[in-house]
Amino acid sequence: MAEETVFGKIVSGEIPAKLLAETERVIAFPDINPQAPVHILVIPKSTEYADVTELAAGDPELLAEMVAVAKQLAAEHANGEYRLIFNNGASAGQTVFHVHAHVIANLEERSLLG
Ligand code: ADP
Repeated sequence: MAEETVFGKIVSGEIPAKLLAETERVIAFPDINPQAPVHILVIPKSTEYADVTELAAGDPELLAEMVAVAKQLAAEHANGEYRLIFNNGASAGQTVFHVHAHVIANLEERSLLG
């Protein structure tokens, strides 16, 4: 069970975010500290899963829904190609323990990520 996080507060509306996509179980919004011209976060509305390992084991269909939303966002905001990043664990760079996918695209406009 994930702790209440900033993303849980976005799901509940306590913290505002500009929704770029919404399905029954998923929302997407811009990363507040973008690392590329397109940097969008896709999260489940459920606060149940802290990281993608837990999500894949517990609800693979929800993970697949997140990937489908990522694909749609990449088609809308870039040329359809995208990098999909899940950080898993603090030592791997995860700071928010509510599973989220970083959808990163249009990398040729900036060379930060190699
Ligand atoms: P990292 O902080 O190392 O990228 P994560 O993979 O846990 O670790 O990603 C958390 C992401 O959430 C960060 O990219 C951060 O910029 C973003 N973020 C934090 N708070 C908000 C917010 N209120 N709205 C949008 N993005 C946020």
